[in-house]
Amino acid sequence: MQYLQNYINGELVAPHRGVYIDNIDPATGSVYAQIPDSDNTDVNVAIGAAQRAFPAWRALSAAARSAALLRLVALIERDIEKLALAESIDNGKPLTLARQMDIPRAAQNFQFFATAILHSSSEAHPMGSEGINYTLREPLGVVSCISPWNLPLYLFTWKIAPALAAGNCVVAKPSEITPMTAYQLSLLCIEAELPAGVLNIVHGTGAKTGTALCTHPAIKAVSFTGGTNTGAIIAAAAAPLFKKISLELGGKNPNIIFADCDYAKMLDTTVRSSFANQGQICLCGSRILIERSIYERFRDDFVARVRSLRVGDPLSSDTQLGAVVSRAHQEKILSYIQIAQDEGGQILTGGHAVELEGRCQNGFFVAPTVIEGLEPDCRANQEEIFGPVVTLVPFDSMYEAAAIANCTPYGLSATVWTNGLDKINYLSQQLQTGILWVNCWLLRDLRTPFGGVKQSGVGREGGWEALRFFTEAKNICIHYR
Ligand code: NAD
Repeated sequence: MQYLQNYINGELVAPHRGVYIDNIDPATGSVYAQIPDSDNTDVNVAIGAAQRAFPAWRALSAAARSAALLRLVALIERDIEKLALAESIDNGKPLTLARQMDIPRAAQNFQFFATAILHSSSEAHPMGSEGINYTLREPLGVVSCISPWNLPLYLFTWKIAPALAAGNCVVAKPSEITPMTAYQLSLLCIEAELPAGVLNIVHGTGAKTGTALCTHPAIKAVSFTGGTNTGAIIAAAAAPLFKKISLELGGKNPNIIFADCDYAKMLDTTVRSSFANQGQICLCGSRILIERSIYERFRDDFVARVRSLRVGDPLSSDTQLGAVVSRAHQEKILSYIQIAQDEGGQILTGGHAVELEGRCQNGFFVAPTVIEGLEPDCRANQEEIFGPVVTLVPFDSMYEAAAIANCTPYGLSATVWTNGLDKINYLSQQLQTGILWVNCWLLRDLRTPFGGVKQSGVGREGGWEALRFFTEAKNICIHYR
């Protein structure tokens, strides 16, 4: 049994009370590691280390900070296979996906922000012969980064990289459900000789470790990705302490398909945007809205494609859907399928757990599920399921499509499939969303603002937005006379 440890002040340390939490492999259902159940004391020690490290880290030149972070990039790239295997075992996602997407993206996150700071500048506002203002962008100090289980190392580094690049010191907490690659990152930080205390990784539950990270007075900002309910708790805790917050929360994303789209490309992409990572990507399109004239054609073609998806051992190279992340999450997904049926939905394919044989006989698998016949305002179409479940909803016009798309409390992303410029223009303006993909899905450019509106979040990550979040503007006004 492997015991993970916290990474504090450049060293691996056990939780001070010596208490651990089970870490479960979702493909087999077995406990395969123990993670620290850290409390306030562990968090306080980590924050103290970060405070001590901050003056020297912020004083480094951008080039020196960049070089330190690029050493991590090289090590992540060297260890892609090892990290991908760890991610697949910890999360249940297909190894092929972790190898192609999760781990390369973790390296890119560090690379992107480590090199962005080499090209950044700040503003000056000259006042003619009278004087000049120049604006410094200063690091905040010690910040916390809290991430979810669905894209563990990918989202963990998406926060840590800009925070460190901007000159902050970080205390970070991965999800207690998927801690393994964050732990492995701490080993790489030691190997890369990242200065002690610059990054600290503390493992534990949200209620205990997470709360401590959001309420400590020395934490200047909280960057959080996770569920909307948790985001509300964090916002309430951080507001009276005047911390900056960035909240990336849940979604119920519409995927809007018009008859005039490139049908083959749309069909291929829609299978992926519905079921990649078992539907556990915040950007998955869980509500598929289809123009009525092609509704039946799409439904039949889509269901045939979904039926052919292979659910299996995440470590097998031909597996397309692996395990969902936990027993509790599997039960939540199945309960929503039951709710959809109670609401009058018809299951076109899937709708049940999948029982595998052999190594994975006790794992948490759910068949990719397609449901039709539901009203847009029912629970199954309003609440985030975050699993391999999509609903099909017909519409008659772009006006109706926009109204259905907007009728949830969420607004993270949307996808539109059409070759009609009128529809692209109209929906670009009308959709209440932070991210809109037209004739594509998950085509990412790390320079772009990333985040949601309504209950999908507050603030933006990515590019300069992230570097602005992790810095404070200080204006200096000099009178010439
Ligand atoms: P979660 O909110 O349960 O947990 C996320 C993280 O917050 C975990 O590390 C957890 O330990 C911690 N946490 C829990 N309670 C806390 C508290 N009171 N104080 C501080 N930290 C606390 O979310 P999850 O189940 O891990 O992730 C799934 C959710 O994340 C989904 O809703 C999904 O849509 C969302 N998500 C959003 C994005 C985005 O970019 N908008 C990306 C990925 C996932």
